[in-house]
Amino acid sequence: MDFLNSLGSSPTTTDRPRTRPQLHTAPWVVPVTREPIRDGAVLVIDGRISAVGPATELTSDLRRIGTDWGEHAWEGVLMPGHVNAHSHLQYTCMADVGRGVYAGFEDWSRAFQVVYEEPHDWGQSAADGLAIALAAGTTAISDIVTDTEALEVLKHGQMHGIAYWELMSWLTDEWMTRGRTETITRLGTRPRDFLGLSPHAPYSLDTDVIRDLSTLSEELGVRRHMHLAESAWEAEYTLSGTGQLADQWRTWGYGEFALLRGGGTQQRPVSYAESIGALGPDCHIAHGIYADADDRAILRRTHTAVALCPRSNAVIGLDEAPVAAYLREGNLIAVGTDSLSSTPSLDLMGDVAALYTLARTQGYADADLHSKLLRAATLGGAVAMGMDSGEHRIGSLALGALADFAVLDTLAPTAHDVVAAIVEAGDGHNQATIISGDIRWQRTN
Ligand SMILES: [Zn+2]
Repeated sequence: MDFLNSLGSSPTTTDRPRTRPQLHTAPWVVPVTREPIRDGAVLVIDGRISAVGPATELTSDLRRIGTDWGEHAWEGVLMPGHVNAHSHLQYTCMADVGRGVYAGFEDWSRAFQVVYEEPHDWGQSAADGLAIALAAGTTAISDIVTDTEALEVLKHGQMHGIAYWELMSWLTDEWMTRGRTETITRLGTRPRDFLGLSPHAPYSLDTDVIRDLSTLSEELGVRRHMHLAESAWEAEYTLSGTGQLADQWRTWGYGEFALLRGGGTQQRPVSYAESIGALGPDCHIAHGIYADADDRAILRRTHTAVALCPRSNAVIGLDEAPVAAYLREGNLIAVGTDSLSSTPSLDLMGDVAALYTLARTQGYADADLHSKLLRAATLGGAVAMGMDSGEHRIGSLALGALADFAVLDTLAPTAHDVVAAIVEAGDGHNQATIISGDIRWQRTN
């Protein structure tokens, strides 16, 4: 095994562990990339996974080497930490908006805007959201940030993921005159490995601004994340510059956007996004509700992952995303909670259970549904953020990955039943959260 090399090698080598190895054992260990292991264990050395296997094997290997180690005997199911592929932690203080009932995206966004304009401590609100997500088993978040105070909350909270700086309401002239420079200045002095850019949506930015944000993300070496196909009126907007969403943005003073001025592009939102360089393997989209077969094919062709947020969609009064079709056709999918301004909790497992129900009611009958959704909530989120390989690798219990786990109370008698229980349980089942090998949260009662 790999870990024997670092533990058993010469004391003079620089590869020897800096900290005492930690062995995490559990009745079930669910690596995601392979079958669940009964009475399994994960060995963590210096915050990374060094070995995964039956607890008896790992223990006897450690004894044979004669090294000292610490042990954590969990009583639940040990799985990779949940990777939330779409959220806005700073809106945690807007949970009252999320408790409303809405007739659609335009209705919800009017209610949202009224509360957003009130004074808020966005940094504190985002930190509160991070604490809630951590307690739910979340170890990485794709977090969209609209106000600077919330920009470094992920980093300071030692949560993995990317803080995507959101750009919206920019006309091309204004963007080129000052928006671009302001954005570079805002991001320029901060470490890039936890930052990204979020062109908000195809309807809230001028066409050339979205185009330029692809260029700027390349210049800065950061990833992108965009809302796409979320409103039922988005298609009318991009096709012909008409409909409720177009009227709303005209009322808000953006009638000079190229699409509104020129009567649309005769393209649906996903093909419009592709045509202006807004899709690709370096970005992922949120929602993807109003995506037909052609749209889904574009997402596959451009290797663009979609973060599905079913509970947020339901609160806002939107239609169901084509979950069964995404699964059947092999799109890259991840799972997001969205923010508390449109969902009842930041526990990703609530959305996983909702996706399970949607897929079955939409006719997805294959036996692999549980394992596909488990993968979406972990490795799928890692793929969406480009964190499934390299130094910041997360999303599965793979050798060399960062040691990010959740421990759920969803025990079951067989490997199949364990995965089914995780996927169907819903929210409220996390017992402990471990990030980079540190136990960051533990249920106390
Ligand atoms: Zn969102």
